[in-house]
Amino acid sequence: MKKAAARRPETLLSHLGRDPASHFGTVNTPVYHASTLLHETMEDFQEAGRHRMDKGKSSYGRTGTPTTFAFEDTVATLEGGYGGVAVSSGLQAVAVAMMAFAEAGKHFLVPDSVYFPARKICHDLLRRLGVETTFYDPTIGAGIAELMRENTALVYMESPGSLTFEVQDVPAIVAAAKAAGVVTVIDNTWATPLYYRPLEHGVDVVLHAATKYMVGHSDAMLGVVVSGEAHYERLRRTSQYLGCAAAPDDVYLGLRGLRTLAVRLERHQANALALTGWLGRRPEVDRLLYPALPGDPGHALWKRDFTGASGLFGFTLQPCSREAVMAFIDGLELYGIGASWGGYESLILLTDPASMRTATRWEPAGPTLRIHAGLEHADDLIADLEAGFARLAQLDPKIGGGGIHGGKSAHAG
Ligand SMILES: *Cc1c(COP(=O)(O)O)cnc(C)c1O
Repeated sequence: MKKAAARRPETLLSHLGRDPASHFGTVNTPVYHASTLLHETMEDFQEAGRHRMDKGKSSYGRTGTPTTFAFEDTVATLEGGYGGVAVSSGLQAVAVAMMAFAEAGKHFLVPDSVYFPARKICHDLLRRLGVETTFYDPTIGAGIAELMRENTALVYMESPGSLTFEVQDVPAIVAAAKAAGVVTVIDNTWATPLYYRPLEHGVDVVLHAATKYMVGHSDAMLGVVVSGEAHYERLRRTSQYLGCAAAPDDVYLGLRGLRTLAVRLERHQANALALTGWLGRRPEVDRLLYPALPGDPGHALWKRDFTGASGLFGFTLQPCSREAVMAFIDGLELYGIGASWGGYESLILLTDPASMRTATRWEPAGPTLRIHAGLEHADDLIADLEAGFARLAQLDPKIGGGGIHGGKSAHAG
């Protein structure tokens, strides 16, 4: 943690996780394709087996190679943690973090805004194993104490939610969890360790879909779980029990993606601000969902805890027909229609948060959409959306009504 504070993250991104002298002088730690790892003597092999749960140790391809360790150590240092465990996807990171603390008869608290497949793990897998989940209002803050039970074993967080973008009061939730002796886990995929460092706010375990901004080029699946020393071995053991193994090429791509993370994020943020600034002045837009905007309900918490915002944001439209919103989306030339954000390219989706929650209600005026602002020129991205609104207005002339909904930009801030 001290080292990370001394050198700034941008510098660390260029220097962590590589050791040219050990690798033929190559700048990047190479890919090791491995299942079997050979040992000089039988004694060496047995010794390696005894230490396979230690950080940076392996006796078999599944437990990692120098590329895996370089990636794990880099993310762990960026987060200010003791160690990281690389796994084969972000969802596997969620599963490992939950399974590490799952026990029949225990109770988990999970935000209603959680990444939907994580909700399914609770609903189906954990329920079958005897773990009960209560979904809570992500904006609950210190009120989480009232949901805490005798058998509560874990408070899970994700901030902001990746469809609806509620920012959680992490320090307040952590304080309540600590008072009850309950472990806290957070999905930090949206912010990355560059813009938010949850371990410094007292969270026990941080996980990432490295698939998103860390890989950054939409071409690999990767996850990572980071913690302090207290929980590291439990996480690593759980990952081993489940047979998790991050693929050699993918872990290499994760490490390579990290090298440019800071400059990419700056552009993602600038583009998201340009797009939300423009959308906030459109009469078709009802609400923007992006905590970096002063009018956003989560803005004060975001400003207090985060040092930046990434390129993913949401917005809701005024009521309009399904046909019109489909025409808006389908005709866009620069925005891909796809799920896995964090790459260099822009994306758009029509989302349905209302169908994915049980503790709170999502009742927008019209359709909810999500945009990932890629690295393209903001003016081109805006022009594409402008053409989209023209298609929308053609099918639903009421909606573009020339500023009749004057109050919108107040939400946008
Ligand atoms: C995408 C995503 C995940 C899952 O990551 P995969 O690598 O796609 O399995 C988990 N959490 C959040 C917030 C995500 O956006």
